[in-house]
Amino acid sequence: MRSPILDYLDEVVADTAHIDSGVLADYIPELAAADPGRAAVALCTVGGTVYASGETHHEFSIQSMSKPFAYALAIEDNGLDHVVECVGVEPSGEAFNELSLDPDTGKPRNPMINAGAIATHALIRPDGALPVDRFLGYLSRMAERDIALDEAVAESELATSSRNLGLAYLLHASGNLASEPRQTVEGYVRQCAASVTVSDLALMASTLANGGIQPNTGERLLSRKGCRQVLSVMASCGMYDAAGNWLTNVGIPAKSGVSGGIIGVLPGQVGVAVFSPRLDEHGNSARGIAMMDRLSADLELHLMEAG
Ligand code: GLU
Repeated sequence: MRSPILDYLDEVVADTAHIDSGVLADYIPELAAADPGRAAVALCTVGGTVYASGETHHEFSIQSMSKPFAYALAIEDNGLDHVVECVGVEPSGEAFNELSLDPDTGKPRNPMINAGAIATHALIRPDGALPVDRFLGYLSRMAERDIALDEAVAESELATSSRNLGLAYLLHASGNLASEPRQTVEGYVRQCAASVTVSDLALMASTLANGGIQPNTGERLLSRKGCRQVLSVMASCGMYDAAGNWLTNVGIPAKSGVSGGIIGVLPGQVGVAVFSPRLDEHGNSARGIAMMDRLSADLELHLMEAG
């Protein structure tokens, strides 16, 4: 029998179809070619059941939604204390690609903005493979399928990476980058080009909702404490410079990406993911936010709401 949850998700997609505000990200040429009308939503319980609606098979690049997972892998590889020494946890209140480093130490303020994500990528241990390949393997274990790269997106961004290269060289100059700048940016850009569906993202988010254990395979992919760290940083820094608004309105740890996706995690309960490519002035999916607002209200996801 068809689950009523699927009917509900169909309704969320249909009821937000009129939202056509926002613009496509165009600083990565390949993203400017996206079909702006696409939309999808998925939800995965901590029991591992995925419900999805809309264009559920459409793949898009993970972009900044890779950041919490790269942070998770860096914590697994190095231990939390070392990672916290290298990358801060304070919201920057600035745009994702700001040249934003702590003026005293030169350290990146948090792992959810580009400076911090580049430093974090450099902390992923190669262990006989490229760090980005280990990262793809990590995502694949969460999503229960092989996650591959969209090479066209990676090439397109690599050709326009001056700003990220600038950040990497600044980090390197202050001794805050663990590997060679150009190579690190290439790995980071490829990390952002991992190609996913909303169902993949919902499964990954549910692994975080489930305290770091993939709900279907039972594999522990992140320690409990590491998971708490990742979710805390998502809550305070995950939504670009609109994180405060997000936390008050939607009320769950989340991360968005310039491809138009947003993942959200309600600890102990559910992972959710939405996708729609048009972005608002903060770089968050406009229709995606409307879908998340709706899910939060209807399913009572807001963390700060009693019972
Ligand atoms: N690869 C993108 C960049 O570094 C990710 C940006 C984002 O999704 O916020 O510019």
